[in-house]
Amino acid sequence: MRPSLLDPLFAPVTTLSGVGPKTAKALDKLLGDETRGARVIDLLFHLPTGAIDRRPSASIADAPIGDVATFSARVSEHRPAPATKAKAPYRIVVEDETGDVTLVFFHADVRHLLQTMPVGAYRIISGKLELWDGMRQMVHPDRILDPKLAATMPAIEPVYGLTEGVGPRVMTRIAAAAAERCPDLAEWQDPGFLAKSDFPSFSTAMQALHHPPDLKAVEGDTIVRRRVAYDELLASQIALALVRRQQKKIAGRATAGDGALRRRIEAALPFTLTDGQRQALSDIHDDMEKPERMLRLLQGDVGSGKTVVALLAMAAAAEAGRQSVLMAPTEILARQHAERLAPLAEAAGLKLALLTGREKGPGRARVLEGLANGEIAIAVGTHALFQEGVAFQDLALAIVDEQHRFGVHQRLLLGSKGEAVDILVMTATPIPRTLSLTWFGDMDISVLAEKPAGRKPIATKALSLDRYDEVVGGIDRAIETGAQVYWVCPLVQESDTLDVAAAQERAEALRDLFGDRVGLLHGQMPGRDKDAAMAAFVAGQTRILVSTTVIEVGVDVPNASVMVIEHAERFGLAQLHQLRGRIGRGSAASTCLLLYKGPLGPVAEARLTIMRETEDGFRIAEEDLRLRGEGEVLGTKQSGSPDWRLARPETDGDLLAAARDDARLLIERDPQLESPRGEAVRALLYLFERDVAIRLLRAG
Ligand code: ADP
Ligand code: MG
Repeated sequence: MRPSLLDPLFAPVTTLSGVGPKTAKALDKLLGDETRGARVIDLLFHLPTGAIDRRPSASIADAPIGDVATFSARVSEHRPAPATKAKAPYRIVVEDETGDVTLVFFHADVRHLLQTMPVGAYRIISGKLELWDGMRQMVHPDRILDPKLAATMPAIEPVYGLTEGVGPRVMTRIAAAAAERCPDLAEWQDPGFLAKSDFPSFSTAMQALHHPPDLKAVEGDTIVRRRVAYDELLASQIALALVRRQQKKIAGRATAGDGALRRRIEAALPFTLTDGQRQALSDIHDDMEKPERMLRLLQGDVGSGKTVVALLAMAAAAEAGRQSVLMAPTEILARQHAERLAPLAEAAGLKLALLTGREKGPGRARVLEGLANGEIAIAVGTHALFQEGVAFQDLALAIVDEQHRFGVHQRLLLGSKGEAVDILVMTATPIPRTLSLTWFGDMDISVLAEKPAGRKPIATKALSLDRYDEVVGGIDRAIETGAQVYWVCPLVQESDTLDVAAAQERAEALRDLFGDRVGLLHGQMPGRDKDAAMAAFVAGQTRILVSTTVIEVGVDVPNASVMVIEHAERFGLAQLHQLRGRIGRGSAASTCLLLYKGPLGPVAEARLTIMRETEDGFRIAEEDLRLRGEGEVLGTKQSGSPDWRLARPETDGDLLAAARDDARLLIERDPQLESPRGEAVRALLYLFERDVAIRLLRAG
């Protein structure tokens, strides 16, 4: 049972004062998932992505120009817009003995301004200060405060990922409220380690993360971040240790087929398998035929043809009369897999069904029934496949596609639906050797080293966004010759809403030129619209698909041979590589245009250069690691590990090693976590939602 001390954190966000149904709904969208709305703990872990310095300057003359400035000044004059110019802004001049600043308000609520800024009053003003015709001015100050209320404005203001309906001020307030809910908990870290590392307590650290003392504290590698990162790594290492123990307890089963179904599927394929695919399949079948459980990683760069390997492995399970699941990280990808694989499965007389959070009603009931009675041999879906209420007649094989989107903890869930399920994890993220040993030390590895024959290299160019018109001209020529184009719009800050707005705007601009040949796809569209957008592109009805990074993972449309990535300088290397992997899949020559907005920083420039130089995923992964090692701080989104809240598995090697040793020792000494420290660790597992570990402990 969850320690009751944690209950306030797992309560819905509406239990926080000032969060009404409207705000809650917006937060659900931002922080909830398929199965539940936003909780206090989601806010607690919704950490600032930046900070604004609002420390006051000594005087107006000292206030920095071109930056956010905060100063105290006297209101000296109101300058209403002249009656003849209705659209002109309302201006207020404020001053001190060193100078003055003109505050500019468009569409002003004049009555409100007269009331809050009477002439002669002193005010604290904060916002972006600029020079305009040699005069200091500030358009729409962020803050105007009575000096008596100065204390209500944090000197370093955290910046949060936002969503429509939850602005910066509300988010700052409710995130702080969530942090205050964090109770003092019994320490779960090893006392010796804790003393040596000088870490603050968990709740102190969480508070500090929401109240950064200076700008560096947000992005830098602080002791506060390391404390929580270690906790997170410890929780996952304990989960791993428990699962490993469990796996040793349950014997595997031998699943051996006669090859008949596999031969029928192979005959139905429009190509022959590569040597790498054959070798991987032979590794997999050898594992499956053994009485031990399989735990194998199939690593193959984008486009190397992992999906068909998955299908043939599932066919082998079906030959033995057993079921398989293929789990994809996104709805779009699950649907695409189901559509692609169904005809091939059918060719072998196998029934394949799709199950995601969106399948509802009688359709869902039918799938659940087919899984329970064994009629469905292959289930393709999202993590909905592993929710309660989904039962299989005889599940033998679970395959996870595009593993980089899954956390270790989701991977562990896989084992829980069948007695002795064989597990195959497929990843396109080439994992450098050192890391793969740490992260997948418990897994066997097969590698698809070569790509299917006949692929042409992708010509990659980096162009300044100033050359937009030229790019559009090139696109026009490309679609005239029958090509299809992905146009990827970047993340705008960490806000999904702005993100979507950028894609919508670009789609509209392109529609002005290309009409209804332009499609749009983004994460906030209703599922049915996403399907329709994807289907229209696959069918060639739309020729240009404008999208956010939702297409990053796995999408496969061989006829698409041009990719434009707008603001490529904002993407991480791994992400650029994943995106580019969507093209170069057919036999036509492909082009990738990286549009950037200069001036480029050295790291961004290095990334674009590497992208131009190579398509080799392993080299890109290594360069990526090298560049990050050199101090570029990437947000969680770019680091490609959305499952990690604070740990940076790529660079926290020392913490990881310590957590692994600590976890092993702890589980050895206190297998059921019953000692006082064990009790504290249970709370840790709940905090980081290591559900599998919790279930295993409950089962005893
Ligand atoms: P990924 O490894 O990125 O998941 P996919 O499985 O989506 O790659 O395969 C990419 C494309 O290559 C698909 O269109 C698939 O049909 C095709 N493909 C797979 N194997 C081969 C092969 N042996 N020869 C030719 N094309 C292949
Ligand atoms: Mg794939």
